[in-house]
Amino acid sequence: MQIDSSKLLETMAQAVFANAEELTELDSAIGDADHGLNMTRGFQAVLADRDNILSKPLPGAVNAMGYTLVMKIGGASGPLYGTLFMTLGKELPDCPSTSDLGRSLLVAGEAVSSRGKAEIGNKTMLDVLLPVAAHIASGTATINSVRRLAAECAKSTVPMKALRGRASYLGERSIGHMDPGARSCEILIDAVCDVLAGKQ
Ligand code: ADP
Ligand code: MG
Repeated sequence: MQIDSSKLLETMAQAVFANAEELTELDSAIGDADHGLNMTRGFQAVLADRDNILSKPLPGAVNAMGYTLVMKIGGASGPLYGTLFMTLGKELPDCPSTSDLGRSLLVAGEAVSSRGKAEIGNKTMLDVLLPVAAHIASGTATINSVRRLAAECAKSTVPMKALRGRASYLGERSIGHMDPGARSCEILIDAVCDVLAGKQ
């Protein structure tokens, strides 16, 4: 499929800006109330760097986005989202098929997992990223099934006890809140779905 890098960048950034307050609110319950701010800072930098990013074909553009995110987001999520996008950029071909997309997302999810030493069930962004990657790689995914799964997976972090990141300091008290990174991952996946569905 042909993915328009400019639309991708713009749609993801606008989705982050539109939901920043909610992300910060989620992070105020089990973290330090900065996830929306961190993501906003990262995507503002991506927009500021758009000419450089968009001068490259899709894989290079996605890789360059990751580099900008690492440099600007900071916190725990900066290096993790940076790893995600940089790995995706290395794995994706110029014109990816659905199976290329699934396989690249799986490799990127594994890279995030080893970078943050986290697994599924630890109440992090991986609880959305890895199942969605596996679903896309399975070859049975539709845009709507991807959206549904991402939303279900983000919700599934509510009853989990955090075992990684700042929220893990709360122990049992992290139970009952959605993980902010799981929600931001859902928001970014939804934005990619919008681009693939030709919305925006
Ligand atoms: P910080 O925790 O440094 O304030 P953010 O608030 O921007 O950073 O991001 C918090 C999110 O990062 C968490 O909700 C979680 O999803 C994700 N996260 C934290 N640590 C890890 C980890 N080791 N592996 C995967 N994701 C993680
Ligand atoms: Mg935080």
